[in-house]
Amino acid sequence: MKSRTKVVVIGGGIAGCSTLYHLTQEGWTDVVLIERDELTSGTTWHSAAQVTNFGMTQTMVGLKSHSIALYKKLRDDPEYPVGYHHGDGGIRLANTPEQMQGYRHFASMARGMGVEFEVLDAEECARRHPLISTDNLLGGLWDGADGDIDPAQLCQALAFHARKAGAEVYRNTAVTALTQHKDDTWTVETTQGNIDADIVVNACGYRVNEVGAMMGVHHPVASMEHQYFVTEDIPAIVESARRMPLLRCPISDYYCRQEKNGLLIGFYEQDCKTWGMDGIDPKFTNALCPDDLERVMDVLEGAFARMPALTEVGIKRVVNGPITYTIDGAPLVGPIPGKRNAFCIIGLRAGLGEGGGHGWLLAQQIVHGEACYDTWVIDPRRFTGHTNVELTALKSIEDYQNEFRFHFPHEHRPAGRPAKTTPLTPILAAEGAEFTVVNGWERVDYIKPTPDFHPTLGFNFDEAFDIVGGEVANVQNNVGLCEVNGFNRLEITGDDRHSFLDRMICGAVTKKDGRVGLGYLLNDHGMVKGEATIANIPASDRGPARVWYGSAAASEFHDMDWLKNHILPGENVQIRSLTNDQTILVLAGPNARAVLQACSRGDWSKAAFPWLSVRECFIGFAPATVLGVSFSGELAYEIHVPNASLYAAWLALRKAGAEFGLKLFGARAVDSMRMEMGFLHWKADLLTEFTPFETGLDRFVKLGKGDFIGKAALEKMHAAGERKKFVSLKVDATHAPARGGSSLMVGDKVVGTISSGDWGYRVGMNIAYAFIDPEFSAIGTKLELDMFGDMVAIEVIAPSPYDPDFSRIRS
Ligand SMILES: Cc1cc2nc3c(=O)[nH]c(=O)nc-3n(C[C@H](O)[C@H](O)[C@H](O)COP(=O)(O)OP(=O)(O)OC[C@H]3O[C@@H](n4cnc5c(N)ncnc54)[C@H](O)[C@@H]3O)c2cc1C
Repeated sequence: MKSRTKVVVIGGGIAGCSTLYHLTQEGWTDVVLIERDELTSGTTWHSAAQVTNFGMTQTMVGLKSHSIALYKKLRDDPEYPVGYHHGDGGIRLANTPEQMQGYRHFASMARGMGVEFEVLDAEECARRHPLISTDNLLGGLWDGADGDIDPAQLCQALAFHARKAGAEVYRNTAVTALTQHKDDTWTVETTQGNIDADIVVNACGYRVNEVGAMMGVHHPVASMEHQYFVTEDIPAIVESARRMPLLRCPISDYYCRQEKNGLLIGFYEQDCKTWGMDGIDPKFTNALCPDDLERVMDVLEGAFARMPALTEVGIKRVVNGPITYTIDGAPLVGPIPGKRNAFCIIGLRAGLGEGGGHGWLLAQQIVHGEACYDTWVIDPRRFTGHTNVELTALKSIEDYQNEFRFHFPHEHRPAGRPAKTTPLTPILAAEGAEFTVVNGWERVDYIKPTPDFHPTLGFNFDEAFDIVGGEVANVQNNVGLCEVNGFNRLEITGDDRHSFLDRMICGAVTKKDGRVGLGYLLNDHGMVKGEATIANIPASDRGPARVWYGSAAASEFHDMDWLKNHILPGENVQIRSLTNDQTILVLAGPNARAVLQACSRGDWSKAAFPWLSVRECFIGFAPATVLGVSFSGELAYEIHVPNASLYAAWLALRKAGAEFGLKLFGARAVDSMRMEMGFLHWKADLLTEFTPFETGLDRFVKLGKGDFIGKAALEKMHAAGERKKFVSLKVDATHAPARGGSSLMVGDKVVGTISSGDWGYRVGMNIAYAFIDPEFSAIGTKLELDMFGDMVAIEVIAPSPYDPDFSRIRS
């Protein structure tokens, strides 16, 4: 074994083999993979190994279609061919109109990634899959590329090509300890000796937390037992001239594909079981859990009813093995939070289908710092600090039970709730709040009219439409109060805080005490990495002069790592998080100033406290820090209050607001109002795939100001011309908002992608944002939107249709 290398990938399943292979493809060949047993001896060897394009975000579709392209290439490679049934086709079944609408949306979204799905009716499903009945079936989604691959051959082929490029693979070598040095390099201790490395990658499947513990981290990954069986030959298959398509069934929770002349059927039973939660036998390798078909009887009946031929043949083989899940079902692929030079590719529950793509995106992140797609949906930093074993297990069980049931917009499933609350949560619940969940935080969505109010889950505007409209109207005409919890707030102190931020942010950085500004952070490639509100709080009895850096609710670990990793040696900058200590009460509307004046001493006039000011004060007797900023387009204040005083501030505001028509509003109203103002959401509209110029943030970029992270790359990109333009759109539909990912069409050509959409109550318009080919970005351009399979007219409009001059915010 070598004594030194650039990257050690730990684990030789599909995750590790794909990462190793792709590192070599990205040009890093001094890389090694260490596997405790033989390659694929974890979960990979016994996988059903289905490979589909289907995903619920463009990033997932993109990475899966990369897998498919790669696997085809490997299949056709005469030097090391891989058994891959590509193109059997697959159907995702549906028996509700909402599921069918969802499939039409996913088809529109996938088209933007160059992937074509077809939405089929029940008869067409049965025509393509001759073994199924159409009982209780509305239709399905067809992926013509669907198939299955030989998992062992795939991993061996990836390792073969990686080795050929210079990588080394050490089998029967277990990693036993990891030590990080002051220069951030690692010593990897193994059963065969030590190896030093710049970077380590945890690709250890269900043993993820054994290796996590070696570096002092717990990953929110839990394993579930998962079973399939293989039948004896089915005469109809023996006689069929073509292979059966795959099936995935959200009605009865199973999947099915052809295996030789029989079927392989896997189950997601309700009575499911976590596995290995209290430790895993070191000897569990190339191993399976005991069969337990009793457990899957509930779903077995559904499969039998759909495919009566199943009842006529026996079971040849049962496989029950551990499969990993995470808190939101998506894997964790990227940098390990709080660590340097450490990455993971873990929590893969569809690792054969996705593994090719995940390894590709991870290798890009390791080598280039960022991948070609925005990888937030799989970023390990998307959960912040609430992800213990218990919560992970609860969410994993829930996710397993709902394997093929995609989340509808506004759907937040009940397991593991509430995870993060404030002292106001029970009070808001008593006021009738419907809660949405943001990174574990329970946040008010809107105030329900009755306790049993439950809108239909679906893609259309739902029964809460008018309720949200009422909340918006009160903000527009009187004043509203909204708790915004979980907002990321980092406190930055030290004399060099402004020069540091100047380097991190691509535009002007407000430095004046008492003033607030908005800034954008770029990555090294000149793409939009983050968005931050910068508030300069003067020295006071509460602390030294400091900056409050505010950003999106889930961004804490992401932003903290990015900022901390860029503090130069000797630079006087300290950063600490206040996210869990402070909560924001937003006061918005033309009467907001009067309410604030009625419960807080001092002069709150426009002259004394104009837009973009910050001041420490008391709300009643609750200490608070008030920012004059608005996400709604109305005169508004963000009132930051320590959680210990939150209820006191709340009572003072409610009392003061009574005579000014103060009512509560929630996140849905905020989302609608921000669309009318052209305000953007991080990771919906602000993505690492686009420069700030492409994102329409020209006024926040100062190329002439001196160096900043990403400047050189941005200048180059800008000089070459923008590839896309961010636009606001008017959508000619009243039944549904445009959903993120939907494709904008000119004829058969996809010319843009929706990033956000919502109804604008104050302007009476269905508004959407999109990234679009520059030639179609002029105001007034008319195009079509593939909205659930229907072509809907859209028009490019000027941003901020409600108040383009921000006159109400500045009032
Ligand atoms: C029954 C079943 C059916 C499935 N069907 C499908 C399907 O149809 N399609 C699909 O896409 N996915 C499917 N999956 C899921 C898929 O198999 C997994 O997502 C995938 O195999 C996970 O691969 P991995 O590389 O992350 O983990 P693993 O395959 O478990 O690999 C991890 C490796 O790390 C090694 N390791 C652990 N600790 C150490 C250490 N300390 N030192 C060195 N090495 C170490 C292990 O020995 C192991 O080889 C199925 C899973 C199951 C259980």
